[in-house]
Amino acid sequence: MILLIVPFLWVDGMTLWPFVLVRRRHPSAFLLNHERIHLRQQLELGLVVFYVWYFMEYLYRRYQFKNHYLAYRNISFEREAFANDRNMAYLSKRRWYSFWRYV
Ligand SMILES: [Zn+2]
Repeated sequence: MILLIVPFLWVDGMTLWPFVLVRRRHPSAFLLNHERIHLRQQLELGLVVFYVWYFMEYLYRRYQFKNHYLAYRNISFEREAFANDRNMAYLSKRRWYSFWRYV
């Protein structure tokens, strides 16, 4: 993981494999774990497939929930990351393509 501090970032963190962009100089361990989960997802699918899928699922969820935040939180990649970002051992035990369980 290559950590970049981007003070003007519009979100707390963003992952563009192999980079993790964060807004604050000292990001929480939970945020870094969350972004590491996205790094693993991006490694599995490739960056282009990951972001095309992410965006298409966002549009679907946006239609489903009629709300930006609910759409974002229900993207399968985010569901896996939010469900496990407080478990620091998660990535060491995670099976490949585990995001499928959150689709
Ligand atoms: Zn996320």
